[in-house]
Amino acid sequence: MALSPLRVTCPECQHTFTETPTRSFLGFQKISCPSCQEKMTFPLTSGFRTTYRVLFILMILMLLASLLQGQMGFPGIIGIAICYALFRDWQIRKELSFD
Ligand SMILES: [Zn+2]
Repeated sequence: MALSPLRVTCPECQHTFTETPTRSFLGFQKISCPSCQEKMTFPLTSGFRTTYRVLFILMILMLLASLLQGQMGFPGIIGIAICYALFRDWQIRKELSFD
């Protein structure tokens, strides 16, 4: 899945540039300013976001299912990573006021 170039204004030095972001570990888009090396993180691309949301809902259902069987479910490392990714995505989008 190739990322398309973004046109960005650096919050540090106000330099405007167009660059193709790289993808970080959880699928966030990362760009560093060519002028001052400031690193910026951009929200998930919609494919990643949708995947995380679906996995999140499945995880909740599985936790509910194990609760109904009288067991205490635990989301595990992957579950925590998904929650973190969704939360970060929401935070970044709020900061950049994408919504
Ligand atoms: Zn800069």
